Amino acid sequence: MKRTFLLIVLSLFMISLTACASRKAGGAAADDQERSRREFFAMDTYMTFTAYGEGTEQALQEAEEEIYRLESEWSVTEEDSEIYRVNHSGGEPVTLSDDTAQIVRFALDMAEETGGALDPTIYPVVAAWGFTTDENRIPRQEELGALLENVGYEKVELAGNQIRLPEGMELDMGAVGKGYAGDLAAELLKEDGITSALLDIGGNIQAVGSRPDGSGWRIGLRSPFGEGQIGVLEVSDRAVVTSGNYERYFIGEDGREYGHIIDPDTGYPVGNEIDSVTIIAEEGKTADALSTSMFVKGLSGAEEYWRAHQDFDMILITEDGQVYLTEGIESSFTLNSSFGNMELHVLEAVAEE
Ligand code: ADP
Ligand code: MG
Repeated sequence: MKRTFLLIVLSLFMISLTACASRKAGGAAADDQERSRREFFAMDTYMTFTAYGEGTEQALQEAEEEIYRLESEWSVTEEDSEIYRVNHSGGEPVTLSDDTAQIVRFALDMAEETGGALDPTIYPVVAAWGFTTDENRIPRQEELGALLENVGYEKVELAGNQIRLPEGMELDMGAVGKGYAGDLAAELLKEDGITSALLDIGGNIQAVGSRPDGSGWRIGLRSPFGEGQIGVLEVSDRAVVTSGNYERYFIGEDGREYGHIIDPDTGYPVGNEIDSVTIIAEEGKTADALSTSMFVKGLSGAEEYWRAHQDFDMILITEDGQVYLTEGIESSFTLNSSFGNMELHVLEAVAEE
């Protein structure tokens, strides 16, 4: 019901947007380029695609259609999706399309690389906490223990496009799918010759090229403490993905907050010192996988992982108001003056003595 209402509001919004699409972006002469924009609801979130330049409307429409196509392949709930088929295969092998095989391969590889902090088989536990239905509850210890028996990325057999998932297990691309969808949509736009676009996928940002005037895109970083943005990040050709517990969480009967990212070791929502993790990487899928898994790892685990890899940047915000950012983005990040009381720490590749 709530969703139907949102969809109606959104459709009205889209009609008015279509009406102003491709109007010249007013203001600065440097930005005096044609602009197209599409807003839509997919993968359980709101998306806004904006592109600058001639003839971008058609390309954006194709990118939107690509998202619907991927959603219908990866949905855990739609009965004709590929992931649904795998989850209801009763342990029998299933042949996947290339896109689905690739995202599953990627999720399994990242699960291995992060030591299981990311686990694409955690879905039954996420469901037990009610995050898939919004009927939240605190499961009993025994229930979680039993569910965790059927969790474990290493039990998934994937060879080429053939997958076999042991009976009782469930796959879910929730932590990486939006990132990969962003990559594929961005690729489509580039193939269509677009050099300046910003894809907002429910807060996941995929920047194609730079702004029309050649400067970087300015991405506001939402405060995990409530209203406002803690700062601004300037990027070109990058994905910027944030995970936190402040968007999807509930307060249990015990008065504690429980968020939607689960520690696969315990089956409990992550409850460490971190309030939000932002990852800046070349690819959306990497940024998405790492935002979830670095959140699970916590401050010292994330720092250790970054030192060992260094092919991405990150901004960690702790619940006591500290900001940790990696040295590669130090000069691209500006803290908002209203958050000037937050303490900034720069993480350097070579640890200081
Ligand atoms: P969002 O999708 O809200 O932007 P994330 O990318 O961090 O946030 O993904 C969180 C989603 O991934 C959860 O809603 C849940 O479905 C799933 N999930 C939760 N914990 C894990 C985990 N440790 N590994 C993999 N997926 C997870
Ligand atoms: Mg993620």
